[in-house]
Amino acid sequence: MKQQPHSSRRLLVLFVTVTIVPAACLAWVGWRMVERDRALEGQRAQEKRDQAADLAAAALQKILAEAEERLTTFSTAPSVQGDSLRDGQALVAFGDGGLLGHAGTALPYYPAVTTPSPPGSARFSIPDELEFRKNDLTGALRALDEAANSKDPAVRGEALLRMARAHRKLGNTAKALEDFAELAKLDVLRVSGSPAGLRAAQGRALIYEALERRDDLHREAAKLCDDLENGRWTLLRAEFEFSYEQARQWLARSSQPRQPIRTERLALAEAAGSLWSEWQTRGRQEPNPRGRRTFRSGDVSVLLLTRSSPERLSALLISPRFLESAWLEELHSAGKSREVDFALTDAEGRPVLGRPDAPLSMQSLRPASSTQLPWTVHAIGNNKRFGPPDVSGRTRLLLAGIAMMGVLVLAGGYFINRAVLREVTVARLQSDFVAAVSHEFRTPLTTVRQLSEMLARGRVSSDERRQQFYETLLRESERLHRLVEGLLNFGRMEAGQLQYQFEAIDPGKFVQDVVTEFQREVSGLGYLIELHGNGALHPIRADRESLARVFWNLLDNAVKYSPDQRRVWVDVSEAGQRLMICVRDQGLGIPAAEQKEIFGKFVRGAASKSASIRGTGVGLAMARQIVVAHGGDISVESEPGRGSVFTVLLPVAEI
Ligand code: ADP
Repeated sequence: MKQQPHSSRRLLVLFVTVTIVPAACLAWVGWRMVERDRALEGQRAQEKRDQAADLAAAALQKILAEAEERLTTFSTAPSVQGDSLRDGQALVAFGDGGLLGHAGTALPYYPAVTTPSPPGSARFSIPDELEFRKNDLTGALRALDEAANSKDPAVRGEALLRMARAHRKLGNTAKALEDFAELAKLDVLRVSGSPAGLRAAQGRALIYEALERRDDLHREAAKLCDDLENGRWTLLRAEFEFSYEQARQWLARSSQPRQPIRTERLALAEAAGSLWSEWQTRGRQEPNPRGRRTFRSGDVSVLLLTRSSPERLSALLISPRFLESAWLEELHSAGKSREVDFALTDAEGRPVLGRPDAPLSMQSLRPASSTQLPWTVHAIGNNKRFGPPDVSGRTRLLLAGIAMMGVLVLAGGYFINRAVLREVTVARLQSDFVAAVSHEFRTPLTTVRQLSEMLARGRVSSDERRQQFYETLLRESERLHRLVEGLLNFGRMEAGQLQYQFEAIDPGKFVQDVVTEFQREVSGLGYLIELHGNGALHPIRADRESLARVFWNLLDNAVKYSPDQRRVWVDVSEAGQRLMICVRDQGLGIPAAEQKEIFGKFVRGAASKSASIRGTGVGLAMARQIVVAHGGDISVESEPGRGSVFTVLLPVAEI
């Protein structure tokens, strides 16, 4: 049942040509399309990024122009600026004596502050002498009484500070706290050189510390830190640093230490310091009416816009926080910020804003030289559409189509291949059949011809021999007759023209008759057919001649394929509503791989061919057709070398 090697090779070539080649072409076309689509997507994304970068640069220019405008107004009238400045912008103006005014984000400290001179020290000489020299604290308090009610806040402040101190020394902490509370109301007014609010907070904290009132100390110190960070008071750097460190130490003693100050405000203060010292050293000699530069403190880059003259320096300090909010807001309203991320880097390539660390293929840059901005603008693709090119939905659909076509071509090729193989097999089986049939005919025909010739020529002398010849002639012609009948029946069956004549049959007697007739046929060859039955059996409805052919075929096979074991067993019994007839031999057996196929037409087993056993390959096919037409079933159990059992199951007739 193996295919001829050359025809299978040809089929393989055909298969490859009609399936693999088109599939490979489709894959190539698909790949080319993906490549082109990617390139196109990439180009489109680049265009979008370029557009966004231009928009971003324009937005930034607009923001800076507005800032310049604001600075111009401020430089002419420093006090007019209200709270309209957004967080992250600090306006400062310096004159000869230091800070003239400031607006917007308050700085934690300033490089130079003009402080009013405290009220004449003579005014407090008596209470100070009582307090420090004579240690008469009650006397000192009495002496301060009048000043504490003065209309002049500076005098009042000095008095309150001294009274609080005296009360504290006397151990009268409640009174001291009251005095500090009063003092705190004067807030930014400088008392003994420092802002009253700062003095009051520090005094209160010292009392809480001495009394070990931890919660109160924490609350006071935390508020002090906040106020210092937010630039509540106009302080010098040294004042700020001392007070801030002191407040942080108080906090460190409580259970919740404080995070370090936000670096951005410090950077603004540092930038102001650098501006001031620059103006002091160079600026006055070489006034630069409009300046624009960046200042870097740690990771923070501050933009400084200045207006300077020999008398005055005005500046607008812009932190990244402001840039971020104003710039991104501008871009957001232009609908760009969702598709593209933005970042800024300074002249040294250090990041100012955002994260410019994406690969360059995903960025569009606008360098400072082309935009007149102090930074390089980066527009970075932040999603698949504007990031690295990806396969678009359209291409995916196309690829899916191509893949489906590929699958169809392969599947089609596979089925065509299978159908062609089947046809080739059938054609080969048919030619085998013709050869087998001719061979089947040749043997008995040769015998008949030789014997009849000898009889006709009178070459057989004895009557006994002549009788033997006649019997052989009869047997061979019966065999030929059966062969022809069998083939004709098979032909009719194939054409669907076989008419079954069903009648009630006693199965025991029927099988007995077939076995007896067959035994007569093969006893000359030394075979013995043993029949076993279990007495009374239900009748069946069957076509006697067709069914006889089934069992004749099975018995014929059992004998044919048992060249060494000359005994065959036939068992007739009933299993449920079915009659069961088994034909068993101890012959060659059938390999498992062939057991299903031998019931197909023209199929002959490998062993039958290799042992040159006569046959046409239609016996079992016919048997199965007949059994199925009787509503029954035929099956085989076999083991090579141990023999086979063919079992026919037929329904018993309903009475
Ligand atoms: P064939 O004319 O070749 O006997 P069949 O259709 O009767 O055709 O049988 C098909 C094949 O089944 C045989 O060629 C043989 O290989 C196998 N076969 C059938 N009956 C037996 C059996 N009793 N023992 C071994 N092989 C058998």
